[in-house]
Amino acid sequence: MFSLFYGFYKYLTKKDEYFVLILGLDNAGKTTYLEQAKIKYSQNLNKSNLHRVTTTVGMNIGSIIIGPSKLNFWDLGGQEELQSLWDKYYSEAHAIIYVIDSSDTQRLTESKNAFKKIIQNHLINNLPIMILLNKQDLKDCLSLIQIRNEFNSLTSNLLINQHKFFSISAINGEGIKESINWLMDQMIKNIDLKPPLNSQ
Ligand code: GDP
Repeated sequence: MFSLFYGFYKYLTKKDEYFVLILGLDNAGKTTYLEQAKIKYSQNLNKSNLHRVTTTVGMNIGSIIIGPSKLNFWDLGGQEELQSLWDKYYSEAHAIIYVIDSSDTQRLTESKNAFKKIIQNHLINNLPIMILLNKQDLKDCLSLIQIRNEFNSLTSNLLINQHKFFSISAINGEGIKESINWLMDQMIKNIDLKPPLNSQ
């Protein structure tokens, strides 16, 4: 009897696991986005830690549960010397989030070059790519249209339904749910090419 109940319990709690990479230059807001996503999808997390987030050195890991799915995020360091490690994770990933600091016009070309390297790698073919234009709360930041035009020569190589730009403010929590909902939908649509792992 116990094993019957245990089997039923396991069936109910089983999750489809997806792995999502959060990439972008250092200081773009990757860790703040991850922390905010954890807050939005959990009742227990404390908002007061958000302003204490410091730039990612190495890797941060976090996960959220959405219905029957578990999203595991790998927030990788964006410093130049760490960017060479990004591609080690591509084969495991179900999706890519690329974060841009919309207020940092001086590093936009550097960010474009880092993005170009990502999309040139065949391992990310067919993966959903979400481009987050962060820090939209700051005045004088570049708008979605301005950055999308800047990135157009690169994103024109991607399938229309494979990528999407979102204006967000990770610190204020604006655009977090909309962006994660889009990503979740794309990963589910992509299930034949990149099935999730099943886990407890
Ligand atoms: P990472 O290096 O990409 O992980 O960047 P962090 O998440 O550590 O953020 C770098 C800095 O930008 C921190 O001081 C954050 O508080 C700040 N930051 C992150 N997101 C936002 C945002 O949406 N608006 C503003 N104004 N600051 C942000």
